[in-house]
Amino acid sequence: MPLTVVRQKLISQVLSRKAAEVVADPASEPAQEWTVMEHLLFAICREESSQEKAEVVFRQLQSRFFDWNEMRVSSPREVAEALAGLTNPRARAERMISFLQEHFESTYGFDLESLQKKGVKGAAKQLENAKGISDFTLAWISQRSLRAHTVPVDAPMMRCLKRLGLLDATVENAVEARASLDEQVEKNHGVDFTDQLSRIALDFCHDRNPACGTCPLAADCPSVRAPSAPRVRKPK
Ligand code: SF4
Repeated sequence: MPLTVVRQKLISQVLSRKAAEVVADPASEPAQEWTVMEHLLFAICREESSQEKAEVVFRQLQSRFFDWNEMRVSSPREVAEALAGLTNPRARAERMISFLQEHFESTYGFDLESLQKKGVKGAAKQLENAKGISDFTLAWISQRSLRAHTVPVDAPMMRCLKRLGLLDATVENAVEARASLDEQVEKNHGVDFTDQLSRIALDFCHDRNPACGTCPLAADCPSVRAPSAPRVRKPK
């Protein structure tokens, strides 16, 4: 079967009802439209974390600090405490503070709404070298706030995509991964594909000992592993 057909079948499986049913709680959209700054700071929580966990922690963050300026002038330790529940809270806190500080120094504020007018290319140009911004952050804002056609890719998703064969093994970084996925995933499926794949990557496709036995993609995954046999102790 041609590779493109195999990949389209896999993408359909990622988007399938079967995959949606076995993953954890459904992702929820924000109750009201978020600002671009909120999307950006949420993306730093969301990278390598589930939607549900990131939402809980983002609410913690918003209730802990009066506004983004209070967060900017707080220590990394204080911000990291508000990010409890996520992996690497200190590193995430430092990224948030350094972005807020740099943005404040150039604009004396925390408004990013002008990015809506600049569009995807303009936003990328403004943010790609900004402190604290990863490719995932930039792609998340593009997809969720600017409604652009792209798929944010973090490390767990990259691992899962390669195991599925949706990315070539030679793909080395998120920029290359996105370029490939943007061609494979239709624009109107971008958000659902991101959410579903991210959940499968986090819930099943673990770095060590992936839970292939219960993974909803096991029937079509070329990397599916049989569960390891229990160790039998030799009699002494
Ligand atoms: S079958 Fe296994 S290797 Fe393939 S996507 Fe699922 S958990 Fe990952």
